[in-house]
Amino acid sequence: MSWDLLLEDSISTVEDLADYLHVNDKDKAVLKEICQDHPLRISKYYLSLIDKEDAEDPIKKLAVPLTHESYLEGSYDTSGEKVNTVLPGLQHKYKETAVILSTNECAMYCRHCFRKRLVGLNTDEVVQDIQIVADYIEKHKEISNVLITGGDPFVLPNGRIQEFLEVLTEIEHLDFIRFGTRVPVTFPQRILSDENLIEILESYSKKKKHLYIVTQFNHSREITKESIEACNRLQDVGILVSNQTVLLRGVNDDSETMAQLQRGLVRIGVVPYYVFQCRPVKRVKRHFQVPLYEACKIMEETHAKLDGHTKRFRFIMSHPTGKIEILGIDGNQFLFKYHQAKDSRDYGKIFTRKVDKTSAWLDDLEIDT
Ligand code: SF4
Repeated sequence: MSWDLLLEDSISTVEDLADYLHVNDKDKAVLKEICQDHPLRISKYYLSLIDKEDAEDPIKKLAVPLTHESYLEGSYDTSGEKVNTVLPGLQHKYKETAVILSTNECAMYCRHCFRKRLVGLNTDEVVQDIQIVADYIEKHKEISNVLITGGDPFVLPNGRIQEFLEVLTEIEHLDFIRFGTRVPVTFPQRILSDENLIEILESYSKKKKHLYIVTQFNHSREITKESIEACNRLQDVGILVSNQTVLLRGVNDDSETMAQLQRGLVRIGVVPYYVFQCRPVKRVKRHFQVPLYEACKIMEETHAKLDGHTKRFRFIMSHPTGKIEILGIDGNQFLFKYHQAKDSRDYGKIFTRKVDKTSAWLDDLEIDT
């Protein structure tokens, strides 16, 4: 079956879901309401990874909505995406990087997504005319790279992906182009059943501009025969695949699980790039965020279990002011360092906040005087 038909065959209603997993009538009503605001989509492949017998199954938590999603504490824009949007579908926060929102669709609507405000919903924030975006990038010589994200760019038809590449690879001052996609993890059939996609990526990457893939494995059980093959197909044509994990309560919030994941990634040639502190997103914060104190302990213990090559990833908070590396705890202080900064004067700045055991985000911490 072609990938688009396979994707159409995904679970996309609460009734469909209830055919596979037990959902009682009361929860069904709540979930139906939740799915109007954050739609449901789970490929049959990803569904097959869920252990139906385990109520606490981490794979299930990533894919299946819970009634906890009714809690609306938090924000739908936790890192200042609105103020950094310079054109429809184009964000320019860090001077070297342009971020293109290529689509509002994904192969799976991950329950922890920080773009819940748009995935599977309206297309207002999605790029329409790529040439207008390219003209902006062309004028801004300080931009060295582009991240094509969404939604998930790999659910776009090949012709649209090619259109992006055709226009962007002509921009002389770009060093490289990245795709942010969870398709290798949630729907590897997109890559495995479409040789033409690989041919397109190979031809632009080898002849025009180097392409990189950034994906998101959150648990070692996502490293399967199929996801390995999908990564290998990309690697076979010279595309480096790196990974960003999100630290998530009930999914990977212990050092053994996190270390096993990072080791598994290195074993298949995927580069551990970032581990992100989960953002305070509405419908996410309450059940997925891990307090910073506990998060630092988990990351310290994870580091202690890994060799130097595997622990190259940075533990990061993506904040409106920049990408802030969470260095750890020293006495009664959290230590942070700007890895990327919206205000270039902040680059490299190290700063502290008073330790408390419950806060999970920078803005909730007290300045230590
Ligand atoms: S694939 Fe990415 S953008 Fe889409 S729902 Fe998952 S985390 Fe969000």
